[in-house]
Order: sequence, then C-alpha cells, then structure tokens
Amino acid sequence: MRSDGRKLIKKTDLLPLLIIVSVTFLLLFAFSGEKPGYAEIYHNGELIRTCSLDDNGDIYVCGGNVRLTVSDGGIFVSESSCPDKTCVRTGRIHTGYQSIVCLPNKLLVKISDDNTNSNDIDVIM
Ligand SMILES: [Zn+2]
Repeated sequence: MRSDGRKLIKKTDLLPLLIIVSVTFLLLFAFSGEKPGYAEIYHNGELIRTCSLDDNGDIYVCGGNVRLTVSDGGIFVSESSCPDKTCVRTGRIHTGYQSIVCLPNKLLVKISDDNTNSNDIDVIM
C-alpha cells in the first residue's frame, strides 16, 4: 500500500476542458449577441415607417388595410384585407434574412439588423 500523492485532476487534464468551455461561451456570446433590431415597413416601394422590435403593439398601415403586430422581438401581419392572405401566413419574422410581402397592398416588411444604431426609432412619415 503506497500513496503516490496523485491528485484526481491534474492541471494538464483541465486545459482541454477549459478550452472547450471558453469556445462554448464564445459561441453562445456570438449568437446571443444578435439583438432584435427594427422593422422597416415599405409601401409602394417607399419606406413609410420603422419600428423597434423591442416594442409591443399593433401598427396599421396601407390606409388601415393591414394590421402589423410587434411582439417578442418579431413582427407579423395579424390582419390584412388582401384576398390571398399570403402575408398573414408568412407568420412572425425576427431576423434580417426574413421579410413579409403583401402584393395586393404593395407592402413590404423587413428586419434591419443595424445593431450599431441603438437610437430610438420614431415614426418616419
Ligand atoms: Zn397580404
């Protein structure tokens, strides 16, 4: 019976673990750093309004024909006068790679990822 004084965990054993944990945190940070931006609402090809996705509420556009709802960092068409309802079926969008189009109402909604601009966005008419 001899005790060689070995510890259960050696420093060299911890190094790979430390690297894995660091990389995991870096990846988490990189992906969670994607804060909700704001939505740009175009009618007839013109930017009629921008709204922060941090807000919650309804926005009526296209002369009240379309109701957009902002909630949980995303935006979706909750009501529309158009016959096909493609825009309603598109559902909620929340990243810069998505957009909502309503051809009958000539409406385009897209997300802007401009995170560097943290100014409050007000209504642009
Ligand atoms: Zn539509």
